[in-house]
Amino acid sequence: MNKIVVVGAGISGLSMANHLEKHKIDYHIYERRKKEDLAGHGFLIPQEGIEYLSQIIDPAVLFEHGSFLKKYVQYSHTGKKLAEKDLNKVFAISRHALIHLLSRNISPEKITYNTSVIPSDTEKGKLKHSDGSYIDADITIVSDGSKSRIRRCLFKDEKMRQVQENEVVNIIQNEEIAATIENDFIKFHHDQGGLTFGILKLSHDTILWYSQFDNEKYKINECSSDNLKKYMLEVFADWDPLVSSIIQKSSYENVHLWCVYELEELNPFYKDNIVFIGDAAHPLIPFTSQGVTSALKDSYILTKYLVEEHSITDAFRKYEAERKPEIETHINNGRILLNQFLLPTDQQTDNILPISYK
Ligand SMILES: Cc1cc2nc3c(=O)[nH]c(=O)nc-3n(C[C@H](O)[C@H](O)[C@H](O)COP(=O)(O)OP(=O)(O)OC[C@H]3O[C@@H](n4cnc5c(N)ncnc54)[C@H](O)[C@@H]3O)c2cc1C
Repeated sequence: MNKIVVVGAGISGLSMANHLEKHKIDYHIYERRKKEDLAGHGFLIPQEGIEYLSQIIDPAVLFEHGSFLKKYVQYSHTGKKLAEKDLNKVFAISRHALIHLLSRNISPEKITYNTSVIPSDTEKGKLKHSDGSYIDADITIVSDGSKSRIRRCLFKDEKMRQVQENEVVNIIQNEEIAATIENDFIKFHHDQGGLTFGILKLSHDTILWYSQFDNEKYKINECSSDNLKKYMLEVFADWDPLVSSIIQKSSYENVHLWCVYELEELNPFYKDNIVFIGDAAHPLIPFTSQGVTSALKDSYILTKYLVEEHSITDAFRKYEAERKPEIETHINNGRILLNQFLLPTDQQTDNILPISYK
């Protein structure tokens, strides 16, 4: 039996563990964060992602932890309706809730928190724990996120670049604010482009809001919650009253600034006995809303080939051949969505939905 180590307990690492559990394949996960540290944002998950999630989480339980959004409504920053589209089974859930649900089937002895796995400086291609001891595994599944240290070490020529967009994301519990929005996904766009304010209802008393901004036009030098609050109050002061009132009434306890990066070119998804899944294999910009679905598909397909194939290399090769073309489509769609976002609204022409479909 192959000894499997999974690095990272985000969406991809935990969904991988769920699939391995289903096939009764042994594994161990090492996760850098402490178990209780679950800071983060939330996800829009299209129907396909829900189908993959339903294979590892009871759908009834899943649906209690988020909400289906009925339609997408796009407004100008002053509140003029620009477009509206019905959403076909797009689900919104906080990262915290999804991680919690995915962790439920993992027994505590199979996951070690608060420990990093990093590349060895001395032994090429080997991975070690932060205490210096080497990882002893036949297969290492790396799911340590978009800035994967292991990927950067194995593929030294890779080039990461900052995307011309940052996001301020906040999740607030406030029944009064949540009551003011239907189960819709609402997004306000500045007429001149490069600045949006989006609102998603996660439950009867919780909403997620976010601001996407062109980081060449809007600069944030310090990401403390006080500074982010100041930025939001200043920049959105004269926007539609729904936006400015949400910004004023929000607590800023959970606010976070995300800087978005992408790979200039994808690397191979594996090297020797190390294979990458999720953002570690292929960072996707938030505009695609496909990060979670892609992570879920990666773990499902990799498990399928690990079960079917006799050789690890064949399993990895088939996994990469199946996943890479679809990821390339999402990367291209993401770039189109980014370019649209940077344009004034009267020049935006393509698909209005902030979701990449293959
Ligand atoms: C602002 C924002 C909005 C987004 N919105 C959406 C959306 O609406 N829909 C959607 O589908 N996707 C969205 N995404 C993308 C989505 O968050 C990612 O695609 C998804 O979380 C990828 O999961 P992952 O498990 O691959 O990586 P991560 O979630 O980054 O998990 C990596 C894990 O590895 C751990 N780790 C890191 N280094 C080490 C190490 N050396 N050793 C051990 N553990 C380590 C980390 O602590 C973390 O737990 C968004 C992303 C951002 C930034």
